Amino acid sequence: MTAIEHPRVVLITGGSKGLGAGLVEAFLGAGYCVETCSRSKTDTVRAWEEDPLIKDRFHFTSADVSDSGDADRFIKQAASRWGHIDVLVNNAGVAPEGVIGLFGDGPLDQVIDVNLKGTVYVTRAASRVMLAKRSGAIVNISSVIGLSGYRGLSVYGATKAALDGFTRGLARELGSRGITVNSVAPGYLRTEMSHGLDAQQLGQITRRTPLGRLGEPHDVARAVLFLTDPANDYITGHVLVVDGGLTC
Ligand code: NAP
Repeated sequence: MTAIEHPRVVLITGGSKGLGAGLVEAFLGAGYCVETCSRSKTDTVRAWEEDPLIKDRFHFTSADVSDSGDADRFIKQAASRWGHIDVLVNNAGVAPEGVIGLFGDGPLDQVIDVNLKGTVYVTRAASRVMLAKRSGAIVNISSVIGLSGYRGLSVYGATKAALDGFTRGLARELGSRGITVNSVAPGYLRTEMSHGLDAQQLGQITRRTPLGRLGEPHDVARAVLFLTDPANDYITGHVLVVDGGLTC
């Protein structure tokens, strides 16, 4: 008798636009059931919800990951809808800019609450589901800014470096339970988040990138698919840089 194959399930935070939307597209393309969340719904999400070829494998929840109650609800509802969670991608993030002397308490709390505490809330809840099944793959989207820094983004960079530390600690904690944990650290991507960079900064980044262009969401999505493929379950605690060679 052949075993019944259940469709693989991925949870992606912040899938309404930018890199998160690219991740949703890539996992849908790979045959996954996809659950995503963000604070507000976009036309991209509405199009997936209405697409007859996709709607049975896609669900969007309105949730703010920096609220632990929302994060728990997102995971619990997804686990009960799909029955299990194979992959979690912690992608939701914000990047308030400002030199340190002028960096206000509001942006400071927001960037730590969303990027760091939000990732911990979601991972804490999802790990309970994965531990029960003794398998799973978690990817935290960090950033090259957490590795090499960028002026005006020091606090953002600190949260991203913290995520890489979280990745390494969790890889040690969850490895014996069959769960891999890795970071993917993108370079500069053409998304709304990089709209704050002016033409001169974008030109400088492109010139310093050996592959001569900014990254696209699909460049990063391929790395995330690779790390979460069950065939690659001997890779954990790794930070995979996807930056066209910028920081090499
Ligand atoms: P983006 O275009 O601004 O999209 C961010 C996504 O996160 C949106 O879906 C947003 O939706 C969601 N989000 C933000 N705060 C949230 C919250 N509190 N709760 C739930 N969802 C929230 O940014 P992006 O460029 O795609 O960035 C995605 C990830 O890649 C981030 O972690 C970022 O740090 C990282 N990254 C980006 C770059 C780059 O150059 N763009 C480079 C390296 C790393 P709502 O606002 O509706 O909630």
